[in-house]
Amino acid sequence: MDFSEPAEATQIKKALDEFIEQEVVPLENEHPEFLGEDYERHIVDEDHFQVPEYREVVETIRQKSVEAGFYGMDMPEEVGGGGVDLLTSAIVTEHLANRPPGFHDAIMGGAGGPTAILLACTEEQREEYLDPLMEGEITTCFALTEPDHGSDPQYMDATAEKDGDEWVIDGNKYWITNGPYADFAMVFARTSGEKGEYGGITCFLVDADKEGYSVEHVHRTMGLTPGGQCELRFDGVRVGEDKVLGEVDQGFQTAMNWIGGGRIKIAANAVGTAQHLLDLAVDYARDRETFGKPIGHRQGVSFQLADLATEVEQVRWLYRYAAWKIQNGERARKEESMAKLRGAELANQAADVAMQVYGGAGFMKDQPIERRYRGTRVLRIFEGTDEIQRRTIARELI
Ligand SMILES: Cc1cc2nc3c(=O)[nH]c(=O)nc-3n(C[C@H](O)[C@H](O)[C@H](O)COP(=O)(O)OP(=O)(O)OC[C@H]3O[C@@H](n4cnc5c(N)ncnc54)[C@H](O)[C@@H]3O)c2cc1C
Repeated sequence: MDFSEPAEATQIKKALDEFIEQEVVPLENEHPEFLGEDYERHIVDEDHFQVPEYREVVETIRQKSVEAGFYGMDMPEEVGGGGVDLLTSAIVTEHLANRPPGFHDAIMGGAGGPTAILLACTEEQREEYLDPLMEGEITTCFALTEPDHGSDPQYMDATAEKDGDEWVIDGNKYWITNGPYADFAMVFARTSGEKGEYGGITCFLVDADKEGYSVEHVHRTMGLTPGGQCELRFDGVRVGEDKVLGEVDQGFQTAMNWIGGGRIKIAANAVGTAQHLLDLAVDYARDRETFGKPIGHRQGVSFQLADLATEVEQVRWLYRYAAWKIQNGERARKEESMAKLRGAELANQAADVAMQVYGGAGFMKDQPIERRYRGTRVLRIFEGTDEIQRRTIARELI
């Protein structure tokens, strides 16, 4: 057993810290309105779309990240990525999450950036979509969830029917991250078979300027950067056969192969968030005095911190173990789900402990806990809810 951090992860973390200091912090200082107490009001317009000034900052960081080689670092070198392995990129994800909210989220691209599912593309699709995506010139979105189907996307209502040599897509997708800004969407629609079947679903690459493609409504969310999620409508959108990603009827399997790594990264993000909240709470407990002593000297407070530190360490090694298994070619469905489940719970527990330790100050928007408290809740919902992770773990057991 080797518990040491891969040397590459240590190097990237150091380089990222320098990059943030040199390129990101000056932009944050220039735009305090996007990070301050009233950030939500400044980032979006009256229709909840992000304002051009905010988009410009995000795009600047994306371009600088491309130039510095951080963008798409976990994509293979053959497509212009950094070829960084899953364990290393998860450790880097944890490191990035262990900071106060800021523009550094744009460094890796998030849901709008390069994704492994696009490795199923053809040579032509690579030139049209993947290459410019890797260069940070365009962004994308992953459109699977529908108003009536989230945990059970295999029951989706969206359809694509063949008409001559074209596919005609009809459907409605909900809560799509980066949907309002994406240049093209990866859209899932049923092309054959019955509702509930995993086969028969195809993934299409659909340009946002196609007739019948519309951004219907930008959702308002809890604790996340506002203006990030929207409803997308596909009303008789016609695309050629060359827009099928991977095999016809096999889109779901292609997506599922990719989603495991995504869950590990969410777990890593959750551990970084929890560590950040723990550090804040420890600092506060050292300084804040009641009854003539720092509150950290009271077991009622210090034991909460001790339990949290123990949990952080447990989940850290759980996600790293899951990543290590995948990297060694082993099946890790159970461990991926365990890490996502426990990571999401952990971040929420950390936010709760930090708020309790801060007392009333934790509740105030000018203090660092409140936004994190709201923002961590979604971790228990997206990319498979807690219950869906338990379902996966149970299926692997029984
Ligand atoms: C901020 C945010 C961003 C998102 N971004 C995207 C995106 O970019 N692309 C995309 O396609 N989707 C996205 N989603 C959608 C997300 O993936 C779904 O919300 C998630 O899969 C859950 O689906 P649902 O919300 O429809 O809940 P439902 O499936 O309706 O579930 C409701 C409740 O029932 C429980 N439940 C459901 N089935 C079972 C079962 N069999 N056993 C036990 N309990 C069960 C669930 O755990 C949940 O508690 C996003 C969601 C959010 C909140």
